Amino acid sequence: MNKGVYTFGGNRNEGGAAMRNLLGGKGCNLAEMAGLGIPVPPGFTLTTEQCGAYYEHGRQLSEALRAEVLSALKWLEGVRGCGLGASENPLLLSVRSGARVSMPGMMDTVLNLGLNDQTVVALERASGNPRFAWDSYRRFITMYSNVVLGLDHALFESEIEKVKHRTGKVQDTDLSPEDWKGLVSAFKDIVQEETGKPFPQDPMVQLWGAISAVFESWNTPRAVTYRRLNRISDDWGTAVNVQSMVFGNMGDDCGTGVAFTRDPATGEKLFYGEYLINAQGEDVVAGIRTPQPITRSQAEGTGLQSLEEAMPPAFRELDATCKRLEAHFKDMQDIEFTIERGKLYLLQTRNGKRTAMAGIRIAIDLVGEGLIDSQTALKRIDADSLSQLLAPVFDPKEKERLRHEGRLLTKGLNAGPGAATGRIALSAEEAEQMAPKGPVVLVRIETSPEDISGMVASQGILTARGGMTSHAAVVARGMGKPCVCGASALQIDVARRVLKVGALELKAGEDWISIDGSTGEVFAGKLSAHPSEVNQVLVDKSLSAQASELYQRFEKIMAWSREAKRMKVRTNADTPHDAAVARAFGAEGIGLCRTEHMFFEGDRIIAVREMILATDVDGRKKALAKLLPMQRQDFEGIFTAMTGLPVNIRLLDPPLHEFLPQDEAGQKEMAEVLGVDLGTVQRRVAQLHEFNPMMGHRGCRLGITFPEIIRMQTRAIVEAALNVAAKGIQAVPEIMVPLIGTVRELAFTKTEMLDEIALVNKERGTQFSCPIGTMIEIPRAAITSDQIAKEAEFFSFGTNDLTQMGFGFSRDDAGSFLPEYVGKKLLEDDPFQSLDQEGIGELVRISCEKGRATRPNIKLGVCGEHGGDPRSVKFFHGVGLNYVSCSPYRVPIATLAAAQAALEQ
Ligand code: PEP
Ligand code: MG
Repeated sequence: MNKGVYTFGGNRNEGGAAMRNLLGGKGCNLAEMAGLGIPVPPGFTLTTEQCGAYYEHGRQLSEALRAEVLSALKWLEGVRGCGLGASENPLLLSVRSGARVSMPGMMDTVLNLGLNDQTVVALERASGNPRFAWDSYRRFITMYSNVVLGLDHALFESEIEKVKHRTGKVQDTDLSPEDWKGLVSAFKDIVQEETGKPFPQDPMVQLWGAISAVFESWNTPRAVTYRRLNRISDDWGTAVNVQSMVFGNMGDDCGTGVAFTRDPATGEKLFYGEYLINAQGEDVVAGIRTPQPITRSQAEGTGLQSLEEAMPPAFRELDATCKRLEAHFKDMQDIEFTIERGKLYLLQTRNGKRTAMAGIRIAIDLVGEGLIDSQTALKRIDADSLSQLLAPVFDPKEKERLRHEGRLLTKGLNAGPGAATGRIALSAEEAEQMAPKGPVVLVRIETSPEDISGMVASQGILTARGGMTSHAAVVARGMGKPCVCGASALQIDVARRVLKVGALELKAGEDWISIDGSTGEVFAGKLSAHPSEVNQVLVDKSLSAQASELYQRFEKIMAWSREAKRMKVRTNADTPHDAAVARAFGAEGIGLCRTEHMFFEGDRIIAVREMILATDVDGRKKALAKLLPMQRQDFEGIFTAMTGLPVNIRLLDPPLHEFLPQDEAGQKEMAEVLGVDLGTVQRRVAQLHEFNPMMGHRGCRLGITFPEIIRMQTRAIVEAALNVAAKGIQAVPEIMVPLIGTVRELAFTKTEMLDEIALVNKERGTQFSCPIGTMIEIPRAAITSDQIAKEAEFFSFGTNDLTQMGFGFSRDDAGSFLPEYVGKKLLEDDPFQSLDQEGIGELVRISCEKGRATRPNIKLGVCGEHGGDPRSVKFFHGVGLNYVSCSPYRVPIATLAAAQAALEQ
């Protein structure tokens, strides 16, 4: 077995930042800080490998590991000059989790370990502070009982409430040492009653229990959910950090807090954080007390005392240390510290979680400050998070109106930017239940990591207590959810299911609430959202680029990405408007124009239905003649919007029954409009019924049975291209045949198209030609791509259908079981969202190879939904596609992902 325990700090620092996978983020950075000479309480780390071993050993700590822990403990006792369980000067420990990537608040921690009926007396003597000693002991019993013994916090909390009630005291800090002493005794009785055993007095029993519990907490439901949401492997495991305690709760010259080297919400370069005097770390992050600001400027106007004012020397040292850490790690740091009797200790540093806005600002600023280059900056930005920059914000005018009407309820902390409106849910479960029926805002007294599923289901999160660094605020930011914290004017009456602000009452489950996570404002009622600044500049053109710093940063990231990427990024667009939006976002062409969507517009559906009802070729041609000018006009609009750029148009794809009304009322209406009797319509609907339409009469099969349809479409494309060219607009069409399975299908279809193109050329005296290619969306086509490439000038991978047909999962029905597949780990992801690289991806790879073998310069692209999924985009880069195509709003995401793929290669 590999070495299982590494020491840090003191005189033996065995780890460092490079050992993240083995020591976890917390463990490796503690060692790194110790190596830099930054004050870190010494301790040791049990490796992440040991977490796996724990589960393999039937959830037991092996003898070998125990021996290593004992030896490290001996070292630690030597370094600190005190002993675990000693009746003089006892060593106390914290036992904390720490995975490779941070999972804020998702796993468990035990503090003050080593306290028992004897050591508490020793601590009282050593500190000269009985209140501190007994307060620490009761905290330890509560935490240990909760984390290791599985008892509910509330059992202990209600005991404290009883004492407060009896003595007439209000705050925890009002309780006397005698009160705490009495509570410790009551707490021990609770443990005996609930577990049938006394609270463990032996510090070694406590330590083994806490280490096991931290390993166990790798699999708490909230940790499992968090890993699933953030694609963290279940196999990585957590490390366990056993560290000597320093105390922030020994008196008013002590404190504890969390700091960021830049604002995690906006990215602004300002030292920023929260702390509490005379408290332990859990008090800050759990959101139990609303903490105080660190800097004087942050405290301005709040009436709160900053750390800068309360403890100037400790503040100066903290400020200098944070600057040093940021320069060392070359990224924004999120730091936990404790001040014990005026002396500063660092307990953790990590790259801070941030919003998308902050992410791009920090990346750009770090480049400007010379700490990183633009390529590193690009690699650091989560491509998916760019969607936050494009998400709507509230309309300022409407907000003004609500303010006037007195519906601005309160203002809390702007913990996660963005606009959210929804019905009020007071619990995570309620939010999950309500979400399918409409948007929900989760409103809680204080945030708890247990709420994670409810947060996922909600549009936004609002809390009455807790600060910017509370776990749930951090998690909300990570999810890109709007979040307002610490809105202390809110009174939540869970029993009556109402939310009160002053005299106003809002009912949970019924009334609407709106939160602006960028300003912290909370409004009663429904607010409609307004396009983001980026949209205002690029799409609506209602804001100038100079007026929006956000837009300028967005554009900088896009410019760097365009420079770095090698694949083109096109868009899936069926209308001139969508094409123009996508072009504004940087689309370099259209990768898929689904012509069927045009058939539903206005009254053209009438002509489509007439065509479907026709019983012979002549009847169909007559109806198609009505459609021709409309299609031609659509294409003219799209060519105009995309002038100079390629526009890939796909011939009609869906089964014809999709164009017919399935209910009787609709069928009656159709019969009336077309002047036929209801029976005719109903017979045709019945005729077209298919048991399995996705594998039925659709795609190229339509053009094979009704060539006049694709001839009309081809003519519309060619005539539109010639018409706009006459006005000086450069049209670059490509025509694509859907759902090809064999090369002969393509050859047949192509002959019809080429014949129609020749006819138009003859009529007009022109020499128009354009590339003709095919979608690859049937496995047979993928593995016979060498043959297909003889006819196709390009391939576009339709990975939606390729996934459907490759897996045999119906696109329309798989939603009923795929979540279980993912939940039971039969699949890593929903393969319709993120490409199944080893299976469906392999089909793509084979097809590319075979296609290129026949036609070396064949153009290859993808137009399935996966073209906008960053992980899939990286795969497509790897197999050498020329472009990806995605919906307009995902163009920036695909652009950044394509750049990252090129940089990571
Ligand atoms: C596909 O199948 O991936 C595709 C782009 O076509 P559609 O989604 O229209 O079937
Ligand atoms: Mg398809």
